[in-house]
Amino acid sequence: MKIICIGRNYVAHVLELKNEIPSSPVIFLKPKTALVHQSYPVHYPEFTDDLQYEAEVVLRICKNGKNIAERHARNYYDKWTIGIDFTARDLQTKLKKQGLPWEMAKAFDGSCVVGDFVDIPKDMKNVPFELYQNEEKVQSGKTHNMIFSFDKIVSFVSKYFTLQMGDLVFTGTPEGVGPVLPYDELVGKLNGAELLKVTII
Ligand code: MG
Repeated sequence: MKIICIGRNYVAHVLELKNEIPSSPVIFLKPKTALVHQSYPVHYPEFTDDLQYEAEVVLRICKNGKNIAERHARNYYDKWTIGIDFTARDLQTKLKKQGLPWEMAKAFDGSCVVGDFVDIPKDMKNVPFELYQNEEKVQSGKTHNMIFSFDKIVSFVSKYFTLQMGDLVFTGTPEGVGPVLPYDELVGKLNGAELLKVTII
């Protein structure tokens, strides 16, 4: 099982981090060991002073595939949820400046959590999702604001990586990313349903 993440997929978030709007999806991976079940707390790592949340819609791959055509991509994922792509932003900024890969800042143990997977509605294009930090809404996105659609992402990713049943695809975060602190409680909602609740320690 692997975790595929898309970066820079919402214009307002690309701009808040002062990055360029990409002409093709930006991809990175997290290992299986990055994933924490939401019934466990997320540990604030000792190697960062700026752990940040990025709330994202997450697809679950249900069928193996390679070189999937965009028009067939919808057959390759069956459920979705909201997840958090945790990022050691200070470390990421340092690595980016040095032109180095992001993995140490993005793929460490406990760097992602996903909520309960649910059925996907017929119309995926106009679905809201939100992240709350200690009951305050800190991120609010709509799937129609994605630069690259779910089907485009699945098709594009499968040119490079064979998708396998059980793989997860994080599809990018909207604007409003920010820091977390120990004892914070994060709650994620997708299409109005509370699917994720996690505590930082
Ligand atoms: Mg992200």
